[in-house]
Amino acid sequence: MAEAEVGDDVLGDDPTVKALEAAAAARVGKEAALLLPSGTMGNLIAVLAHCSERGAEVIVGDESHTYVYEAGGMSVLGGVAFNVVPTQPNGELSLERLTTAVRPDDMHCARTALVCIENTHNRCGGAVLSLSYMASLSEWAAERGLPIHLDGARVFNAAQALGMDVADVTAHVTSVQFCLSKGLGAPIGSVLAGPAALIARGRRLRKMLGGGMRQAGVIAAPGLLALQQGPQGLAADHAKARKLAAALASIPGVLIDAERVQSNIVVFALAPGPCSPVQLCARLKRRGVLAAPFRGGVRFVTHRDVSAAACEAAATAVAASLTEEGGLEGEAHQANGGAYGQGTTWPGARGGG
Ligand SMILES: *Cc1c(COP(=O)(O)O)cnc(C)c1O
Repeated sequence: MAEAEVGDDVLGDDPTVKALEAAAAARVGKEAALLLPSGTMGNLIAVLAHCSERGAEVIVGDESHTYVYEAGGMSVLGGVAFNVVPTQPNGELSLERLTTAVRPDDMHCARTALVCIENTHNRCGGAVLSLSYMASLSEWAAERGLPIHLDGARVFNAAQALGMDVADVTAHVTSVQFCLSKGLGAPIGSVLAGPAALIARGRRLRKMLGGGMRQAGVIAAPGLLALQQGPQGLAADHAKARKLAAALASIPGVLIDAERVQSNIVVFALAPGPCSPVQLCARLKRRGVLAAPFRGGVRFVTHRDVSAAACEAAATAVAASLTEEGGLEGEAHQANGGAYGQGTTWPGARGGG
């Protein structure tokens, strides 16, 4: 970062940003790409660029990040209405349900302009959408002239889990947002990639939203490393997640279906008893282990900066925390664990230790 060659990216002449955008577009097989400060801005810009007319409608899953965790920005800032369909436990939006969600060409209705999907799916515990699903969705959308935007915050994890090149996954969508700042290991940044005309609109929207960053080469430099080297580390992250899930499954009071762990996210529920998910996370934090209350359970995410030994230690800390005596100060039994805890009970829980 300190040695990055920089220019002024608002004027379009930061060489490191240009190199990252070109490499990112090539990597996901799209015409052009745009560096952004966050994934939320990437999804927002994608939806605004696809839905150029106010009163357009985007079809989203009820458990999608775009719908649950992005502050309703598409409606607030773009006048885009959400058309919400149920998310299947495996992260898919069923084609039957999508078909009934598309509005007729009728002045009473908002114009359906876009479908948004997520892969891997965060609230479905890192579920990976199959390539056959992606292909059939792509065919379904093409028949209706609808573009697809992929919230691919963790699309490189999806590609790794599928044993495919990421471009084979993104080939089935019109545009994709992916995070440099998550599993790929950069300190900051996301990329939106898609057709050149869409990205050109996105560039104007990025400026409008205050996301044009001048000497952004300092962000693009680690972004380039993340793009080139990050994907190689994801297999290990997934292996650590599977081992963590197996260790958790042997702890009395932990409810987890270890078979459901497909990528770097591990979610488990707790049998009614010693403590709530919020309390467990507080106890874990005191032991130096960070986890999030999540859909009535607890979520761990593995990444390059946690070792296999640290994952083992995390499971040991869960076991110890569950047998801790009594409540300590500040460990109030909250009904709601903040944004991540919000929502229905984690469906992946299965009985047994
Ligand atoms: C993290 C995440 C985002 C948004 O990324 P930010 O950089 O935190 O704004 C979008 N979608 C999914 C599925 C995510 O996990």
